[in-house]
Amino acid sequence: MIPSKFQYKRAESVSDALSMMSDDAKLLAGGHSLLPAMKLRLNQPDTLIDISRIEELKSIKDEGDHIVIGAAATHHDIAHSNLVKGACSMIASGAGQIGDIQVRNAGTIGGSLAHADPAADWPALVIAAEATIRVQGQGGPRDIPAASFFTGFYETALADDEIITEIHIPKLPAGSSSTYVKFVQPASRFAIVGCAVVKNAAEGEVGNIKVAVTGVSEMAYRAHGVEDELMGQVVSDESIDRAAARATDHVDVLSDHYASEKYRKHIAQVYVRKALETLK
Ligand SMILES: Cc1cc2nc3c(=O)[nH]c(=O)nc-3n(C[C@H](O)[C@H](O)[C@H](O)COP(=O)(O)OP(=O)(O)OC[C@H]3O[C@@H](n4cnc5c(N)ncnc54)[C@H](O)[C@@H]3O)c2cc1C
Repeated sequence: MIPSKFQYKRAESVSDALSMMSDDAKLLAGGHSLLPAMKLRLNQPDTLIDISRIEELKSIKDEGDHIVIGAAATHHDIAHSNLVKGACSMIASGAGQIGDIQVRNAGTIGGSLAHADPAADWPALVIAAEATIRVQGQGGPRDIPAASFFTGFYETALADDEIITEIHIPKLPAGSSSTYVKFVQPASRFAIVGCAVVKNAAEGEVGNIKVAVTGVSEMAYRAHGVEDELMGQVVSDESIDRAAARATDHVDVLSDHYASEKYRKHIAQVYVRKALETLK
């Protein structure tokens, strides 16, 4: 449980961090995934570049029709932000359900997205919110829609020389609903199943409902089968029944010592139903 030797560098700005990056270096944010991996020698970087004190990465800002959350904002900061609560309430409530207070005080949204743990909460939250993830490399910034950011088991569309800088979350109009529910692994609080649902009031009574699920497969996914079942329907017990039954359509369901494939599939349906019931 002792990591191999590494150099520690503290970046003062994003451009400073970019200039320090190399094949053998790793960014350090909250350290809550990277340090355990280093202690297990699953990761052995020569250099850690600490980005956790870069002020420009920690802010949460109002930018008109969306809010911008800095990649180094902690789960705690996000859970307690009135700006976030007003823009899309499930983003704050989801952040508040991550781990315990120690994890929330240190862990960051950018670190969690980059790590892409299949049981993490942020992937479902940003996919359902239709967020955009802004990343910065030597060639400048680029924006990646959350739906195409996660590419596999602990894999993302982020290039090795890029830093996540901002997460852009569209504001929901008044009268909209959003919710995040999860069935937790009782020791870590990671999601065995997590379900995020957004209903945008601007799209009317039978408007598009966005549903994203984490914990169930090798990466979080948009539950298109569930959404299709609700398209053009008033949300009712009957439409929720039909929709929840499709929670794992076209998905390879994980099986591990916390939940077998059959059990996880069942729990996914139960938690999709729980989330949809909040929309009635
Ligand atoms: C006991 C425990 C319980 C937890 N419970 C939960 C839970 O219930 N739900 C949940 O979702 N998570 C949970 N976590 C994970 C935690 O929420 C952290 O957010 C997550 O570990 C990674 O964030 P971090 O800031 O600590 O990143 P780090 O560990 O510092 O970094 C993780 C990876 O991301 C890279 N990275 C960091 N920041 C950036 C950036 N801005 N751009 C590009 N790459 C970057 C690093 O180089 C590294 O590869 C738990 C962790 C622990 C230890």
